Amino acid sequence: MRTVDEHLAEVLAHAHPLEMLDVSLLDSRGCLLAEPVTAPWALPPFDAAGADGYAVIVSDVASATAATPVVLPVTDVVPAGYRASHAIGEGTAIRIGSGAPMPKGAQAVVPLEDTDGGTAQVAVHRAVGIGAGIRRAGEDLQKDQTVLPAGALVGAREVALLAAVGQARVTVRPRPRVVVMSTGTELVEPGAAMTPGLIPDSNGYMLTAAAQDAGAMAYRAGPVRDEQHALMDTLEDQLVRSDLIVTTGGVTAGTYDTMKTVLARLGAVEFTRVAISPGRAQGHGYLGPDHIPIFTLPGNPASAFVAFEVFVRPVIRRMLGHQQVFRPLIPARLTHPVTGVPKARTYLHGHLHGHADERLISPIEEGGLRGLRLADSLIVLPEDSGEIPAGAVVSVMPLSRS
Ligand code: AMP
Ligand code: MG
Repeated sequence: MRTVDEHLAEVLAHAHPLEMLDVSLLDSRGCLLAEPVTAPWALPPFDAAGADGYAVIVSDVASATAATPVVLPVTDVVPAGYRASHAIGEGTAIRIGSGAPMPKGAQAVVPLEDTDGGTAQVAVHRAVGIGAGIRRAGEDLQKDQTVLPAGALVGAREVALLAAVGQARVTVRPRPRVVVMSTGTELVEPGAAMTPGLIPDSNGYMLTAAAQDAGAMAYRAGPVRDEQHALMDTLEDQLVRSDLIVTTGGVTAGTYDTMKTVLARLGAVEFTRVAISPGRAQGHGYLGPDHIPIFTLPGNPASAFVAFEVFVRPVIRRMLGHQQVFRPLIPARLTHPVTGVPKARTYLHGHLHGHADERLISPIEEGGLRGLRLADSLIVLPEDSGEIPAGAVVSVMPLSRS
């Protein structure tokens, strides 16, 4: 019997970030940059009007008030995307759109609402200081400055920044392709006709979604019957398009031999008993010439979920290049007593509440998929913790969705 920590060390031993890959900007979302990105130009790239209004020389409008407006002739109109045809002349104004480059010589923009909005000439109602209403070149970033460091996680705001510095493609650690394969002769596709003895494949959907949540590109295969040919064919097909394979079912008595025989032909998979509750029967190994890692998880959905969270998710995170591959654990006070399973690290469904300085955790009585759905966290009880009374502080793993 292995401890959870020993099994984790084993499955992480050969998990590495994937080879860097050049991808289009939106495909980089959720990935970590493999290389730093520097700005090929300043951001903003030029002095631009920050609002719709009139570009002016500040001394020309120094005396302007609502009661005594200064009236200036308007010599040009520059919408965003255009440039002024000439430098600003003393005692004149240029109508300018937000985002348009400042005309040469102009010192400020008087916003439209501080004028009469005139076309041939404009009445300015308020004085402005030098630089007012201007977004300066390089205000956000200087040319050659680091826009994002290697290892930065790309989300919506990073994508915006990368687009703004002209990066149509970026070099990232790609998402691992994870294939989730359910095994079990009793399994059918959700929606298929149900006869007694058959159940829909919920694990396949659950773990594919969980792998996607972890950042992987995940696909379902199966459900596959507990038969050697069916298992072999599906695994061989999936091997060529995956960086990681996760199976569920077929690792307890009954069907164990089928799974074991097939996997032995494709690679080296070790079936171990891990001191974890739920789900002691765990398999891990490598298949095919490319040594694609495989996890064989228990078929029981609650066990499969815990095994995914505890063992598979950190491997996916490592493949993505994350430094922090584990979900953070936080302390919380039990509202009800709980009991750990002897000689195992025990994971229980919990609901986290209270507030930041007094977090409370309530065990969820319901089991199965419904209990799992009600849980927003796992209560993690150390090996041999026995009965733990209400009021004790325990470690909790919140199952946040990102
Ligand atoms: P096994 O590990 O194959 O012996 O399965 C243990 C229990 O989990 C059995 O009750 C199975 O019917 C159930 N089970 C196995 N695989 C799935 C699955 N993909 N979806 C839902 N239940 C499953
Ligand atoms: Mg089965």
